[in-house]
Amino acid sequence: MKAEIIAVGSELLTPDRVDTNSLFLTAQLNRLGIEVTRKTVVGDDLGPLRAAFDDAVKRVELVIASGGLGPTEDDRTRDAVADLFGRKLARDPAVMSKIEARFRQLGRTMSEVNARQALVPEGATVLDNDRGTAPGLWMESGGRIVILLPGPPHELKAMYAAQAEPRLARIATGVRLVARELRVAGMGESDVDQRIAPIYTRHEDVQTTILTAPGEIQIHLRAWSADTPAAERQLQDIQESIVLALGEAVFTTKGESMEDVVARELTLHHATIATAESCTGGLLAERLTRISGSSAYFLGGVVCYSNALKSAWVDVPAEIIESRGAVSAEVAIALADGIRRRTGATLGLGITGIAGPNGGTPEKPVGTVHVAIADASGSKERMVRYPGERDRIRWQASQTALDLVRRYYLYAAQPKSVG
Ligand code: AMP
Ligand code: MG
Repeated sequence: MKAEIIAVGSELLTPDRVDTNSLFLTAQLNRLGIEVTRKTVVGDDLGPLRAAFDDAVKRVELVIASGGLGPTEDDRTRDAVADLFGRKLARDPAVMSKIEARFRQLGRTMSEVNARQALVPEGATVLDNDRGTAPGLWMESGGRIVILLPGPPHELKAMYAAQAEPRLARIATGVRLVARELRVAGMGESDVDQRIAPIYTRHEDVQTTILTAPGEIQIHLRAWSADTPAAERQLQDIQESIVLALGEAVFTTKGESMEDVVARELTLHHATIATAESCTGGLLAERLTRISGSSAYFLGGVVCYSNALKSAWVDVPAEIIESRGAVSAEVAIALADGIRRRTGATLGLGITGIAGPNGGTPEKPVGTVHVAIADASGSKERMVRYPGERDRIRWQASQTALDLVRRYYLYAAQPKSVG
């Protein structure tokens, strides 16, 4: 089954508000095997609203709208749909008494405009609203289903789960969405695409989307199928071919973040880690501690921005800073090794670089970053040069440092699983 979503509200056409309801609805519909083929954002104007519904029901069997069910004059969704389907609006006594009861419970007097919310198009099913006064509506006409839900996200979510989903689940066919998400670090988008295009273009029935995010490339594979096991096998095949083509640059096949992957490795190896950061200002420590349970592996970190503190806190020799410069391979290694020794962690990570926009030189332009990892037996360093803005450079530097940890464990023997 295919569906369209209409987000109603003039505020959604301003720079101030974004339509998030459609993201929630798309995720929920996908779970039922319903594919969302189009989304429309439309203001609270009767003409364009009616046209949006008219167009949508011509294309798909299911249309879900959010917003415009409130009590005020600018809430026109129910009028537009009633008009489109030629249904009269009548005041529903049951809805009316629920609205009255809600106002009584809140100790407020109901104003006449609230009675508008009790107007129900003939033949429509009322969807109760436990969180607010505007009821939702379920209408069927000419083999089409139109569901109207309230705009406030918490009302919409509760109503969808309690009233719309059970009804849709009975109607939805056996088609299901099967999806995979691979993420790649240390490669550019065009390079990734060049290597994997020969693979995914062989599978026209699988939607492949390549997205760039800071520090990583995401490969989304999606297949709609009534035969879920067959679709799973097909995606597994594609996934394996992609992993073969991209090698160790693939850091997850389950859509995990880099910090998730690193957390898993550190936990698996009963290892601990500590950080000494300059240009990332603590971002690395922040990312390592995003994950609950991070106290099992993250001992702590320092932000040593000045040269003096690099020496005072993690014992970076002043002569090295003097001779090689603060942004250098030697300093990155000294940071990683220094923090490891100071904290007794299994691994130390060091970052030093020039995030810009100022401070670059011809030899060390903005975006030059050195990251290093150290263990008791030695260290490994990597110099990278990132294009872009300060925030992006800092994020990518933290990503590369985390990736060093991941790669460190790629070559380490996997410990025997316990239990
Ligand atoms: P309404 O049902 O049109 O009165 O919407 C009430 C409020 O819900 C709006 O002022 C928005 O804050 C919020 N809202 C409406 N539509 C959306 C949407 N598509 N995504 C997120 N919030 C929304
Ligand atoms: Mg509105």
